[in-house]
Amino acid sequence: MGLGKLEKRVGFIGAGQMAEALARGFISKGVVKASDMIATDPVKARRDVFESFSVKPVISNAEVVKEADIIFLAVKPQFVAPVLKEVRQHLTEKHTIVSIAAGKTLASLKEAAGEDTKLVRVMPNTPCLVGETASAMCLGGKASDEDAEEVRTLFSSVGRIVQVDEKLLSAVTGLSGSGPAYVFLMIEALADGGVRAGLPRDISMALAAQTVLGSAKMVLETGKHPGQLKDMVTSPGGTTIAGYHELEKSGVRSGIINAVLAATNRADEIS
Ligand code: NAD
Repeated sequence: MGLGKLEKRVGFIGAGQMAEALARGFISKGVVKASDMIATDPVKARRDVFESFSVKPVISNAEVVKEADIIFLAVKPQFVAPVLKEVRQHLTEKHTIVSIAAGKTLASLKEAAGEDTKLVRVMPNTPCLVGETASAMCLGGKASDEDAEEVRTLFSSVGRIVQVDEKLLSAVTGLSGSGPAYVFLMIEALADGGVRAGLPRDISMALAAQTVLGSAKMVLETGKHPGQLKDMVTSPGGTTIAGYHELEKSGVRSGIINAVLAATNRADEIS
């Protein structure tokens, strides 16, 4: 054990889409070795997927808790409390529980797992499935800065993670949780624009998606303000400022701000 960057054993309760994306990311970035991971799922086909990339598949949730130090709760939200109650007797001070279940509060995790458990609640988003998540985490129970650092190391292999107070998790849900849908709309609209202007659909879609990817990369890699990057591509009297003017006239900026706010409010309502 221990050739991975993280000298911990990692377990997954629930070996679904998200668990698979995380496990594959940990292995490919050398953060945790496959032989230091274990996963449980009632569905054989899911266990077979994990076995196919050398992660030990088991049927018993308790076995994962006994063997692992960091345990990902990657079941659907309604199964989180029952699963925690089922394994609670095997939890010790060595364990860190990382829940990725949407809407499951630290208080509800604490109630199911017990007062003394180290708890980390993570709000990931769907691009986790392609190794580019924008996630946020908050700490609860006995979780320490060291636990946060370990979770940061793990999630850095599948994108980015920030740490916030739990009260800000609804805002995270409104921005990065729901955000992929807003960006998909934008990509579709860009592609429609290209088609309207005469481009074939497949070429238009490829150009639209790559434009969003490249622009996001420029923001992250240059550290420049998006307004500054926009100024760099808008020459006086040119094409880009003509298009940009139309966007401002249509109120797209406040439309996006309102979308984040509406999703944040909705997350508050249902949590
Ligand atoms: P999924 O359905 O692919 O995976 C859940 C797995 O849990 C399934 O394979 C299921 O067989 C297994 N399972 C069911 N009951 C179990 C039990 N008692 N013990 C062990 N395993 C059990 O779901 P997913 O998309 O991977 O989502 C997992 C969690 O991640 C959810 O709580 C969801 O809210 C959260 N999440 C997902 C996304 C996303 O983009 N998919 C984004 C944010 C949060």
